[in-house]
Amino acid sequence: MLRTLKYQREADPEWARQVSERPGCEGLFSCLQCGACSGSCPLSIYMDLTPRRVIALVREGFRRDALSSMTIWLCASCYSCAANCPRQIHVTDLMYSLKREAIRSRLYPPRLPAPILAQEFYAMVRKHGRNSEFWLVLRMALRSNPLLLLTMLRNGWDLVRTGRLSLRRERIHGTSELVALSGAGPRPGRAEA
Ligand code: SF4
Ligand code: SF4
Repeated sequence: MLRTLKYQREADPEWARQVSERPGCEGLFSCLQCGACSGSCPLSIYMDLTPRRVIALVREGFRRDALSSMTIWLCASCYSCAANCPRQIHVTDLMYSLKREAIRSRLYPPRLPAPILAQEFYAMVRKHGRNSEFWLVLRMALRSNPLLLLTMLRNGWDLVRTGRLSLRRERIHGTSELVALSGAGPRPGRAEA
């Protein structure tokens, strides 16, 4: 839970305005701070900041606090908050937008698997056109917690042995065309926010 005293000089109102112009985030400044989103969120008890508090921080422009919060990574995209918001604010979309910016700005909690998985998935699909589960999990574990691999060894081997997990890299034909296409779009860690 955020307990630090905040000062107005730390806020960046321009950033808040930019967020409010992103698709799905348009209702940011109409938030009533009623807390219906937090009350209906099945995961808020595990979050460091409730969804309502994330909204409050974003609209005041406290960028670093919002982007480095665990909340945006715990969000399960269940849309309960959005469905219960009296102002029809798309809280889930806002969470997605913050996740993309946190990855791009490297402001996510260090070694947290979720943003690392997202980056590796994007990089793999961009390069090969397909996801290869074995390599994806391997790269995520090496970057987040290599010791995790020891706990996965037994199950992993069983999956490989029974043909349910392939060590082969999946790829499509014409990957150069895919790279050319995605070259015009956002890159890993620099996704549009
Ligand atoms: S339910 Fe909607 S209006 Fe209420 S605090 Fe959450 S985002 Fe704001
Ligand atoms: S979409 Fe995310 S923030 Fe909203 S209720 Fe579900 S888990 Fe909570």
